[in-house]
Amino acid sequence: MNQLPENLHPQTLAVRTAIAKSQYGENSEALYLTSSFVQPNAETAARRFAMEEDGYTYTRVGNPTVNSMELRLAALEGTEAAIATSTGMAAILLLGMGVLKSGDHVVCSQSVFGSTIRLFAGEFAKFGIQTSFVAQTDLAQWTAAIRPNTRLLFAETPTNPLTEICDIQALADLAHNAGAMLAVDNCFCSPILQQPKRFGADFIIHSGTKYLDGQGRVMAGAICCSQQHVDELFLPITRTAGMVLSPFNAWVVLKGMETLGIRMQAQSACALALAQWLEDHPKVQRVHYPGLPSHPQHALAMRQQSASGKGVGAAIVAFAVHGSHATELRRKAFATIDAVRVCSITTNLGDTKTTISHPASTSHGRLSEDQRQAAGIGQGLIRLAVGLEHIDDLKADLAHALDTVS
Ligand SMILES: *Cc1c(COP(=O)(O)O)cnc(C)c1O
Repeated sequence: MNQLPENLHPQTLAVRTAIAKSQYGENSEALYLTSSFVQPNAETAARRFAMEEDGYTYTRVGNPTVNSMELRLAALEGTEAAIATSTGMAAILLLGMGVLKSGDHVVCSQSVFGSTIRLFAGEFAKFGIQTSFVAQTDLAQWTAAIRPNTRLLFAETPTNPLTEICDIQALADLAHNAGAMLAVDNCFCSPILQQPKRFGADFIIHSGTKYLDGQGRVMAGAICCSQQHVDELFLPITRTAGMVLSPFNAWVVLKGMETLGIRMQAQSACALALAQWLEDHPKVQRVHYPGLPSHPQHALAMRQQSASGKGVGAAIVAFAVHGSHATELRRKAFATIDAVRVCSITTNLGDTKTTISHPASTSHGRLSEDQRQAAGIGQGLIRLAVGLEHIDDLKADLAHALDTVS
């Protein structure tokens, strides 16, 4: 088969890159559901185990379906390579294990995914790694937190659920000037809308559980980075510690990525229309969505989230109901959520099914009230992760839900 030409569009890369074919020449990617690989002879086996010769041996070390998924994701992110993990959190664990050692320091946004905060503040701290948490949008705080032993900056943009944006280019410059590296969790935008590598990020983190699968079926994760970083920092750990992706889950994500572009486009368009409609709704106090001119970092978001050729706000919308105190806000938010008939009440996101959740009592429920106040996540806040239903049905569902609230 001829090699693919250069400079293909993401839509083409998503269906055409990295197809591991068997001798049968199948057009849809085969699933290599095997834990080990038969060796032609003992000599070859010896060379492969010594890493002197390419060739599969054991799926913890490498598997054709997993490699196809890695190559396809790397092609979409514009990085040389990628390494897949069992979950998104396993990717962040692998990042820490590969990049950090005892005595190192990390600067991390205080608005990242809750388990990411617990991983840095709790688990890594046990191994003598200190993390300073700073305000997502305040570059002065990031700068002030840098120490001589700072090795890694970790950001996520937009954040959950308030969709706060940080300037990837500015953080990459800050990290590199300090002799550190920048990791960006790109779950919310996916490479279709935002390619952090273009702005200087060294490591791009994915939870494949979200938009890459896109249909809420499997868990998966990955780090996208240079081939050298995969070979030297990460592969030795996954081979030994084993947080690898299963071939079946890799195959689901590999096929999921084929429709990533068209899904992100449709779900984002629907989210924008819903955000605009919610902003004019009398029962809604405030809407958080990067695609709205009222968003404090609208201009930055439109510049940064423009890998598709134009700025796109992505598919997460948060909105707050009116109320004068926490008890009333919580009661109204719960009543709104309980009245929906189309949306699913669940905290997952990146699914074809629209999900609705109450961050203060679920995803951010383990924070103290003070931490929640600092994060701006009030009791009246509701998050939507917009799926593929018809916009009119979603509007009608939310209109009905908001009307039931007095
Ligand atoms: C879900 C999520 C993760 C963790 O991914 P899992 O696959 O659930 O382990 C990390 N970061 C962000 C932004 C997420 O939404």
